[in-house]
Amino acid sequence: MDYEHARQRMVRYQVKGRGIRDLSLLAAMGDVPREEFVAEQFRPAAYRDGPIPIGYGQTISQPYVVALMTNALRVRSGDKILEVGTGSGYQAAVLASMGATVFTIERQVPLAEQARQTLERLGYDQVTVRAGDGSVGWAEEAPFDGILVGAAGPTIPTPLLQQLKEGGHLIIPVEEHKGMQKLLRITRRDDGRYDREELGEVAFVPLIGEEGWEPEHRGYWQ
Ligand code: SAM
Repeated sequence: MDYEHARQRMVRYQVKGRGIRDLSLLAAMGDVPREEFVAEQFRPAAYRDGPIPIGYGQTISQPYVVALMTNALRVRSGDKILEVGTGSGYQAAVLASMGATVFTIERQVPLAEQARQTLERLGYDQVTVRAGDGSVGWAEEAPFDGILVGAAGPTIPTPLLQQLKEGGHLIIPVEEHKGMQKLLRITRRDDGRYDREELGEVAFVPLIGEEGWEPEHRGYWQ
């Protein structure tokens, strides 16, 4: 399997072909070896146009969804970014590859541990992984230039709004009405108020935690 070729095709058709123009993002997605973030049996499918299971009922997001969210975050080299929902670590690697310093939280301890090992093995040393509830953010490291949430809760968690720098963006899927998730971009203005933009309908796994859903939400027992 020629992963390098599959990766460049993914960037060309799934990302650039759908209108993403940020050169630093395109370069990062052309560089990060997605096949290293999935289990052996899923490697040949690493660049397909969809999500892939990573265990514990969770998934690594579709490449285009990673691109859409990262593009909406408007990442600049040197930014300090909080990611909620590390999953495989792939999204964190893309952010790091764009020059960001990344703090990422995953509630599933084995996934956090595995992501930490993968990121370390691949040399993404500007990523710090923590196991815990990211719906309350990471107060000791705040404020952040940007916050990206990879799981959908019922509302926008207040701690995440508070941990955002002025001018910073929070990208988060929210299920305000049952069965309908919207991807939102929340921007903290200089006057301390927040702007809200809707970026389209999405389908994410639930955000479970203090500022998210209860653990038994939709039968998610973890
Ligand atoms: N971005 C990830 C990647 O590149 O593989 C995929 C994220 S996956 C769609 C969402 C992740 O959010 C899951 O691994 C899930 O366990 C995690 N999650 C859900 N609620 C969470 C919470 N409160 N804090 C941290 N992680 C949470």
